[in-house]
Amino acid sequence: QAKLAGGNTLRFFNADMQADVMERVHLEADLHQALARDELRLHYQVQVDDRARVTGVEALIRWEHPRRGLVPPGLFIPLAEKNRLILPIGYWVLETACRQLAAWSQERGKEALTISVNVSSVQFHQPDFVARVQHTLEGTGADPARLVLEVTESLLMEEPERVRNIMLRLSKLGIRFSLDDFGTGYSSLNYLKRLPLDELKIDKSFIEGVLDDPVDAAIVTTTITLANSLGLEVTAEGVETEAQHRWLLEHGCEAFQGYLFGRPLALEELALGEQASATLP
Ligand code: C2E
Ligand code: MG
Ligand code: MG
Ligand code: MG
Repeated sequence: QAKLAGGNTLRFFNADMQADVMERVHLEADLHQALARDELRLHYQVQVDDRARVTGVEALIRWEHPRRGLVPPGLFIPLAEKNRLILPIGYWVLETACRQLAAWSQERGKEALTISVNVSSVQFHQPDFVARVQHTLEGTGADPARLVLEVTESLLMEEPERVRNIMLRLSKLGIRFSLDDFGTGYSSLNYLKRLPLDELKIDKSFIEGVLDDPVDAAIVTTTITLANSLGLEVTAEGVETEAQHRWLLEHGCEAFQGYLFGRPLALEELALGEQASATLP
């Protein structure tokens, strides 16, 4: 069957899409059980400084589905945002990350790492979000200054005044903010000025092109300059090759994340020594 969608877009609904919809329905039913059945895992991907020393990690959720194996967040986070399961899931992520932060403070003292946690706008707009975050920090004993909340440009665009207020309250607790996937959304530069942001993360789609696409290269150098002049840190996401790493260092980027330094890994597999696997140019 064909269906006319708004304007002059013709959309076909075929067997493939039917299967897709069924798949999503099953996945959604299973997701309701995932927390109770203890199927969610946090993986951690290292972030390194200009000397390739590990300074922190980003927490990335995975779902260990009993039949499907490891389901990536791109497949179930959008579902969870739609049916609001993101609320209990998000609190589980925050709690797990904060417990890990507290453990590292005990083990490593001043060498303790930061943990960056992705937050969705559904979580952010809960009336008790600030109180719950504060409660989690207190309950786990995690140092708020080592917790980084990663927000997206679209989160900032929804009710900007409200978002600003929430961010100010959280940053008063000592929590830091990072703007994820920078350059892919529609954020106004005005937000950068008005919001208590600490870091920009340059999206991996731009990093991918720095060596052979002049437009990507220009976007990346402009972002680095912008961050420097606003006093923000800047992290390059999705760094996969030595050549990209070298280029970024030469253009003034001092923080990196990507497969070159390590894939997201379970805690037990994570190597948090002084030097990440990549060698310096
Ligand atoms: P993100 O926050 O931008 O995370 C970075 C993504 O890039 C991760 O995908 C990571 O595995 C991937 N990545 C890292 N280095 C490289 C690289 O060198 N090359 C390539 N090609 N990819 C790289 P992942 O883990 O599949 O997560 C996808 C997205 O799902 C995240 O994007 C984030 O938006 C969302 N997400 C993950 N965990 C959570 C969570 O706990 N809560 C919420 N709300 N969203 C989450
Ligand atoms: Mg950092
Ligand atoms: Mg992120
Ligand atoms: Mg990102």
